[in-house]
Amino acid sequence: MTKISSEGEEEGEEGEEALRLLHQRILACRLCEQQGYIPAARPLVNGRASDRMMVIGQAPGHRSIAKGRSFSGPGGSILQKWLEQAGFPRGYLHEHTYLSSLTRCDPGRNPRGDGDRRPSPQEVALCRPFLEAELALLRPRVVLLVGAMAIEAYFGKVSRLILAR
Ligand code: SF4
Repeated sequence: MTKISSEGEEEGEEGEEALRLLHQRILACRLCEQQGYIPAARPLVNGRASDRMMVIGQAPGHRSIAKGRSFSGPGGSILQKWLEQAGFPRGYLHEHTYLSSLTRCDPGRNPRGDGDRRPSPQEVALCRPFLEAELALLRPRVVLLVGAMAIEAYFGKVSRLILAR
């Protein structure tokens, strides 16, 4: 018996396939390594075409790369807690949210060695087409910009006071 898919199901399957191909391209990218910005590119992708909320952070850290899951560090725990305070269920961040970032590879430690290095404008520019492709494909209803760098990438320089509010 032939299963007749509804329009929504077909669109969903097409979306997942398009996203799978996009993820393949991201995972194969080595631009920042080839241009000497990072020693080794290990891009990270997380999310489904059906996700309606997208989180855009700065870049994955070493914990996320090691676990193969974005926002695996303390920032992810805080974000999940905020979502729960806003009424979303436990696990929502990793199970129902598309997790993206300005760059997809761990930029490594900052020169002082006391935190993550901010990706350079050149690295952000190299990775930006992937982010724009995800936004165009998912057309999320809600986009959460996490951290000063992600906010500034879309709204320009914002004062620390405004960011803290
Ligand atoms: S950060 Fe982005 S552009 Fe740079 S190597 Fe990783 S996936 Fe490619």
